[in-house]
Amino acid sequence: MRDYFCEEIPAQFQSKKLLEFAKNSAYGYMDALPVKRIYPSEEDLRLLAHFDEPLSQQGHSAEDVLRMLDAYGAKNAVTQIGGRYFGFVNGGALPVGLAARWMADAWDQNCVMQVASPIGAKLEAVVEGWLCDLLSLPEGTAAGFVTGSSNASLCALTAARNAILRGHGWNVHKSGLFGAPAVQVVLGEQAHASIFKALAMLGIGEAQIRRVKNDSQGRIIPEEVGALNSSTILILQAGNVNSGAFDPLDAIIPQAKAQGAWVHVDGAFGLWAAACSQTRHLTKGLEGADSWSCDAHKTLNVPYDSGILLVRDRAALTASLTAAGDYLPVGAEREPMHYSAEMSKRARSIELWATLRYLGKSGVDALIKRLCAHARLFGARFAAEGFEVLNEIAFNQVLIRCGSDALTMAVLKTVQQSGVCWCGQSLWENRPVIRVSVSSWGTTEEDVSKSVQAFVDARRQNAGLE
Ligand SMILES: *Cc1c(COP(=O)(O)O)cnc(C)c1O
Repeated sequence: MRDYFCEEIPAQFQSKKLLEFAKNSAYGYMDALPVKRIYPSEEDLRLLAHFDEPLSQQGHSAEDVLRMLDAYGAKNAVTQIGGRYFGFVNGGALPVGLAARWMADAWDQNCVMQVASPIGAKLEAVVEGWLCDLLSLPEGTAAGFVTGSSNASLCALTAARNAILRGHGWNVHKSGLFGAPAVQVVLGEQAHASIFKALAMLGIGEAQIRRVKNDSQGRIIPEEVGALNSSTILILQAGNVNSGAFDPLDAIIPQAKAQGAWVHVDGAFGLWAAACSQTRHLTKGLEGADSWSCDAHKTLNVPYDSGILLVRDRAALTASLTAAGDYLPVGAEREPMHYSAEMSKRARSIELWATLRYLGKSGVDALIKRLCAHARLFGARFAAEGFEVLNEIAFNQVLIRCGSDALTMAVLKTVQQSGVCWCGQSLWENRPVIRVSVSSWGTTEEDVSKSVQAFVDARRQNAGLE
């Protein structure tokens, strides 16, 4: 029998030895960034087969476990923290957030309540206030810190649904959902997949959803919104996942509120536009909504996982997410577990606080300007090289095509295999497009040039498909 806990070695020393290994492995990974492929090669991917092993009876030494992860894992990580990953809308982690997270990981906090993690709970409260200020949201807006925007929308929309039903004399906690008055949802035809997932989990299906027409950029057309009432949740978007376009919030929200609707804004990556002098106009009217969801792990470049839900009516949120138990000594102040679906959770407020404190308002402003500037540079370089740029580059997203659909897809595949950069695909007006999302502080002008060159080379290699 192996001695799992090595009693002859002081636990502290054992931890330090392993953390030292982890640190060196991470440093090796970072040092290799300039030459590391952005996506693993076929050969790298084959190494994953090493993980196909039965769970052993005896276990392995901790060193062996970490060595295996270093040998086969690091090569098969997507190089998201470099400057040439443009897939999905995946942000790169700023060093200060990563370092704060390493510290907090050593503390292994459970941010369920103040009494379980005074530091985690304190920083949730601090960041809540900072976010209202940074994003110009109504004073007193409540924030919950969750895994990501999907989870944030789910929690915010739970508050919305319950508040609407309460307004109609129905208490979900008491009477459940069966037999409840109807709740209607109105959203744009390009609402994000995570919204539909959240609605389905909330007991709101297709039959209760009305889709509103979009313009050529994927923005809701205000005149198409139609009549709303006090049973409606209107879901708007700050940042279309393809084009980056923003729904005209200012033209929609005041009327929606006047008709009694609850307005939610999905601003997974775009909500941060409100914190930047150059893009703030895109979010005009934002503060009139009732709830918002966003990701700090996207535009703000906080390490994964870091989603935020924001709800104007604090009581509506905490009433929806309340939990009580005889063993849970609720304090006088804000208790994290009343602001998220989870009870036990890591103290993700720590790296969010660290990143915001490091950047300050002008740092956030500069970060967003930088992402937008590189997106525009991509657009200009692509256009100059004869690629078709399909969207108005309002924020950080660039959509391109290379002539025929077959060539577009072939070029994308060649670029992905090149290892120089990585972009994903989508559909735009029912045709395939390449989607370039500039979401990392690490991207430089040189990264843009290298990446555009990879596209030019890929087009040459697939010339037959034109
Ligand atoms: C990414 C994204 C989401 C989902 O966020 P997760 O953090 O992946 O859960 C929702 N809406 C939009 C517009 C997004 O870009």
